[in-house]
Amino acid sequence: MSIETLTKSVRNIPDFPIPGIQFKDITTLFQSAEHLKELSEILFDQYKDKEITKVVGIESRGFFMGPATAIKLNAGFVPIRKPGKLPYKVIEETYTKEYGEDAIQIHEDSLDKNDVVLLHDDLLATGGTMVAAYNLVKKLGVKKIYINFLIELEDLEGRQHFPSEVEINSIIKF
Ligand code: AMP
Repeated sequence: MSIETLTKSVRNIPDFPIPGIQFKDITTLFQSAEHLKELSEILFDQYKDKEITKVVGIESRGFFMGPATAIKLNAGFVPIRKPGKLPYKVIEETYTKEYGEDAIQIHEDSLDKNDVVLLHDDLLATGGTMVAAYNLVKKLGVKKIYINFLIELEDLEGRQHFPSEVEINSIIKF
């Protein structure tokens, strides 16, 4: 299956959730068994040789492909969640989104110096969410961090906010 086919299955919703945002709806991508399998295989191929020990997914759309990818890579899964959701001791980062302000948290004992992490979310827009997630994971002192998105909005140049040595992959580009 071509990337173009995957790209065409993402539904664009103009002015959602606020005027001016072209919202990329991934439910139309996920509802096809063939598309879901293709995404899963692309992700596996990209990271199968990286010795990933934990996939870290960002709430909430990072929870769709995150655990599925972890299972294929024989890795664990760690959630990054919005404040008030994680029950144990957390560390937190605040950030600015394409629309609005937000904060994210991770359990302080969820990763350690032996972990090779694949940080995953559905979409890279301004990069604010993933930079905050990258900073959180870095604070836990892991061995290496890879970053992956299903979709990248290239015009917003979110990549420029990450250190140049970090490997960032996206599957579908708009
Ligand atoms: P950002 O922090 O600006 O890179 O925004 C990324 C996060 O916000 C991701 O978790 C996305 O789910 C969501 N998001 C931002 N912009 C869009 C968009 N245009 N369409 C769909 N989701 C978006």
